[in-house]
Amino acid sequence: MGAPNLRVILIFLSFSLPPPPRPFLPFSLIGMHASRGRVGWDGGAENSPNLGYKMAAPAIRHRIEIVPANRLMNAAQVLQQNLTLLELVPQLVNIEGCLQFLAERALIGNSWTCDVCQERGRLQATEAIDGFVWRCPPPCRRRKSIRQGSFFSKSHLDLKKIIMFIYLWAADLPLKFIQAEVGCDDKTATNWANFLRDVCSEAIIVNMRPLGGFDDDGNPIIVESKFFHRKYHRGAIRDGHWVFGAVERESGRFLMRIVEQRNRATLEPIIQQWCLPGTHIISDGWAAYRDLENLNNGVYLHDVVVHEDNFVDPDLPWLHTNTVEGKWMHAKRKLRRQCGTTRDLFPTYLDEFLWRNDVGPNKVGEIMNAIRQIYPV
Ligand SMILES: [Zn+2]
Repeated sequence: MGAPNLRVILIFLSFSLPPPPRPFLPFSLIGMHASRGRVGWDGGAENSPNLGYKMAAPAIRHRIEIVPANRLMNAAQVLQQNLTLLELVPQLVNIEGCLQFLAERALIGNSWTCDVCQERGRLQATEAIDGFVWRCPPPCRRRKSIRQGSFFSKSHLDLKKIIMFIYLWAADLPLKFIQAEVGCDDKTATNWANFLRDVCSEAIIVNMRPLGGFDDDGNPIIVESKFFHRKYHRGAIRDGHWVFGAVERESGRFLMRIVEQRNRATLEPIIQQWCLPGTHIISDGWAAYRDLENLNNGVYLHDVVVHEDNFVDPDLPWLHTNTVEGKWMHAKRKLRRQCGTTRDLFPTYLDEFLWRNDVGPNKVGEIMNAIRQIYPV
């Protein structure tokens, strides 16, 4: 008599019990830690509240949002958070954590509305690359990639690898190192570095403020300006780029633009675009600068350095272009290390250099904000 009853009970249990969780070791371990609250490597008290392993992500299946609206971060909040590797890595141990990380920062859409039936889609688990797709309800049942419309839609690289790539790239680590840590091939690493440099180029165009003008006391701000030459030796061919450089002496903010020629017709529009009226421009004696004082009815002050050998005249100690020359030396050294003599990539490497100089110290936050700005979701 007992055996059939037991079978009935077992069948009943197998229907009424929730399915067992997927065995996923790092996730379950973290879940255990999280249940005990904050945890350190030694199991003792942890000082940093940020290490509280909030990434023990609940399943997001069937939801209409990846994260609740109150977890969405604005650009200022992204910058405030100085994300360390210790804080980042645990968030990437499962796909839910990756998606939540990206959705919180508006790097992927947090929800999706089907443009055919106008219904909100839900997250459906799949075997495909990101683990989930958006799916609108019956009868429409259309599917949409989690990445659609985002910066990530151009790639099939695993999201956790992309996030790690962005982090290490922002930290300015060598590409070889990043590639090894992320675990991707040469071509993928090169592509992603190119994508990120393109973001820098776009961000400069959108965000870079002109130099110079007047300071708070009404004094003209000094901008040093000079043309530089970047040479490439490729066999017998000697080739190069002219680069216009300008730096705000006090703040160190600077601008470099590649130009075809260093004549007046090239120089004057750049000055008008990038130097505010009132700027005190100090340049070398190159002929293109000759009529600068009369440009735009004389809105600029202009002085010329006579000595070409970095000599600073004790009577005129402010009259030099050493700051802009120092910036150029720095840029040249760094770019030579990064791209050697690759002529075609030089402009985007230069943009990356400018971007890093122009943004604040939290480069990880800055590049994520630049991505969300250039690729709004
Ligand atoms: Zn639909």
